[in-house]
Amino acid sequence: MTQSHFNPFGFAAVPVLQPLQLELYRRAGVNVWMLRLDQVHPQVSGNKWYKLKYALQDLIARGEGRVLTFGGAYSNHVHALAFAGQALGIETIGVIRGEPAYAANPTLSDARAWGMRLEFVDRATYRNRQDPAFEQQLRSRLGSFGLIAEGGFGPLGLAGCREILAGVDGVADFDLICVAVGTGGTMAGLIAGRPASSRLLGFSALKGGDFLYADIAALLQLAGEDDPGGWGLQLDAHGGGYARTSPLLAAFMAAFQHQTGVALDPVYTGKMVLRFNQMVAQGEVVAGSRVLLIHTGGLQGLRGMQKTLYDQGSAYRGGLPL
Ligand SMILES: *Cc1c(COP(=O)(O)O)cnc(C)c1O
Repeated sequence: MTQSHFNPFGFAAVPVLQPLQLELYRRAGVNVWMLRLDQVHPQVSGNKWYKLKYALQDLIARGEGRVLTFGGAYSNHVHALAFAGQALGIETIGVIRGEPAYAANPTLSDARAWGMRLEFVDRATYRNRQDPAFEQQLRSRLGSFGLIAEGGFGPLGLAGCREILAGVDGVADFDLICVAVGTGGTMAGLIAGRPASSRLLGFSALKGGDFLYADIAALLQLAGEDDPGGWGLQLDAHGGGYARTSPLLAAFMAAFQHQTGVALDPVYTGKMVLRFNQMVAQGEVVAGSRVLLIHTGGLQGLRGMQKTLYDQGSAYRGGLPL
């Protein structure tokens, strides 16, 4: 069995719970752990392992040999699905937002090497991704396929994410659980699967993330899950917009990795931890709190950004919340 064999069925991933030692946390009297979902699989990394688990199982059960999904050119979801498809013998098609030239980037080069067929569409066309007429058009052009929504958002994705906290030691003792949010699918699974004693805070990677409240509520309802409340969204953590980087973010990620040994990604986890640390620095996290930060992975997206991040980080002259 090679290290990148992928079999999400029949066993649960057991992510490591790592204590984070930072001067900032010590001074504020806040105890912080990180749940390392980034380590559950070398390719099907982070929350995508959980989001894809039941969607793939469903395809196999239905004897569906082809699957189509949607994503951006650096999508962790597209990357993970391409690998899982090859490992499980399922053909994959990725409908990608943007120019065909993106096919040469590290994310999509991997996806092609794993056998994914890429279909590039412009931004206006991509907006139709949930439109049944567009789906019909894709079916008449490409033949039959099973469908996994962008980011694996859906009841089956929720069912997998419900299991993220299941094996975590002492999970009921956390006062606050933090996670980065894109589509809100992972957040919905955590809302359904977390212990009632902890508050859950999602950090939106997108600007204008107000729509997430409705999307998350709709997904919970579709999946037949009650909403027990006790959760909220931090909508100002996006740092100027989705996938935008800054000297502060770049310098923070480098310093955080230096001090904790944990690499973060600039789109999701870097922005979440930066914003959380700013909350601690501003006294918004009560002393004595026990906090769990969920590392949702996404490190494949760092490739090709290292130089930009290094240059931006080196130019930063301000203070850092560490
Ligand atoms: C996809 C992704 C998210 C967002 O997950 P959603 O379920 O879409 O909210 C967060 N972090 C990382 C690293 C991701 O790849």
